Amino acid sequence: MRTTVGIIGAGPAGLLLARLLRGAGIDTVVLEARDRAYVEQRQRAGVLEQGTVDALRAAGAGARMDREGLRHDGIELRFDRRRHRVDFPALTGGRSVMVYAQTEVCKDLIALQLAEGGPLLFGAEALAVEDADTGRPRVRFRHRGREDVLECDYVAGCDGFRGVSRTAVPAGVGQVFERTYPFAWLGILADVPPSHHELVYARHDRGFALLSMRTPSVSRLYLQVPEGTKPEEWSDADIWRELERRFETDDDWTLRRGPVTRKSVTSMRSHVHEPMRYGRLFLAGDAAHIVPPTGAKGLNLAVGDVVTLARALAHEKETGSAALLDAYSATCLRRVWQAERFSHDMTGLLHRAPDATPFEDRLQLARLERLTASRAAETDLAEAYTGFPLD
Ligand SMILES: Cc1cc2nc3c(=O)[nH]c(=O)nc-3n(C[C@H](O)[C@H](O)[C@H](O)COP(=O)(O)OP(=O)(O)OC[C@H]3O[C@@H](n4cnc5c(N)ncnc54)[C@H](O)[C@@H]3O)c2cc1C
Repeated sequence: MRTTVGIIGAGPAGLLLARLLRGAGIDTVVLEARDRAYVEQRQRAGVLEQGTVDALRAAGAGARMDREGLRHDGIELRFDRRRHRVDFPALTGGRSVMVYAQTEVCKDLIALQLAEGGPLLFGAEALAVEDADTGRPRVRFRHRGREDVLECDYVAGCDGFRGVSRTAVPAGVGQVFERTYPFAWLGILADVPPSHHELVYARHDRGFALLSMRTPSVSRLYLQVPEGTKPEEWSDADIWRELERRFETDDDWTLRRGPVTRKSVTSMRSHVHEPMRYGRLFLAGDAAHIVPPTGAKGLNLAVGDVVTLARALAHEKETGSAALLDAYSATCLRRVWQAERFSHDMTGLLHRAPDATPFEDRLQLARLERLTASRAAETDLAEAYTGFPLD
């Protein structure tokens, strides 16, 4: 089997890259280890930056998002039983975000790829990327019980944090920057309309809580829990009781309860692999970097990477110049580190470390107070939350 760009992984990064390259007249084959139903049901991100929304629209994948997505013009910060709204358009010259689930982004892109794009093989697990530092890289993969080889001009490693692409970079060539956190998120999906029309980020002495949503009738809620927690350790009643405590306010706000349909625990990690290129292998999305989910940046970074990569490959096709491909890693990493900084700061601002001292608690509250009192501090948050430029 042979193609111009072999793409490993049909998450948002791999699927959007395939779509963008099709638009540029570059052929691709996408290899995805899991089956279609699994990829379409995997619950993850839900907040799309303006730049991500624009990129999906430009790729012709925005029609359902524009019909069903929920435009959000702000978030609420909650601490000390008080509520403070951050108004994005007022602070950023009109920018906002869109709440539209990653599952739906993937469904839309898969449908387009199957209808109009190159081959997308489900159940095709990449085993290794070989000869990445030569002019003829290859992906060895297993599909329907048989081993096969995909010969490519370029390989895009879009296979997430636990994928195989990164392992093709020899030890000593790349460098990893990493931080793990001593807490995790217990997340639920519940069949109940959201209790607030915007996301609520709550800092509480008992730990962080987040109120989010997937649709007008489905809530997504998270609790900070100790790292290593198992979902089954928490009953539904315990989860609702704890959410109520952490979201409590001095006014008459109440949390709506409903049937919990899904429960999972996500660990928190910051991780960057530099450079994001080795020879003709380009890493994109979670394969190259991870952020803790507090800043809602992971999916958006993945989109930024593949927009940059697609432009660089199209430029090479049109002009014969590899200048943009050569700049790929440095271009992406500038944006990646801004997102790493923001995600780390938001995590520190809102979570309670198990060994937090009373002094650190007071500092955390002082930082939140500052956000409510200073337009400059609020603007900094709003600019980062709605997204860094794609260039
Ligand atoms: C609970 C949670 C909440 C989040 N909330 C947000 C949010 O609000 N906003 C945001 O921007 N981000 C959020 N994120 C992060 C976001 O979901 C990820 O950053 C995003 O999925 C990255 O996309 P990707 O395509 O790079 O990787 P993935 O989505 O991980 O896709 C990688 C694909 O590669 C496949 N694969 C793996 N190994 C192989 C192999 N060997 N061969 C073939 N295929 C392979 C996988 O099956 C998968 O389909 C959240 C994440 C979690 C867990």
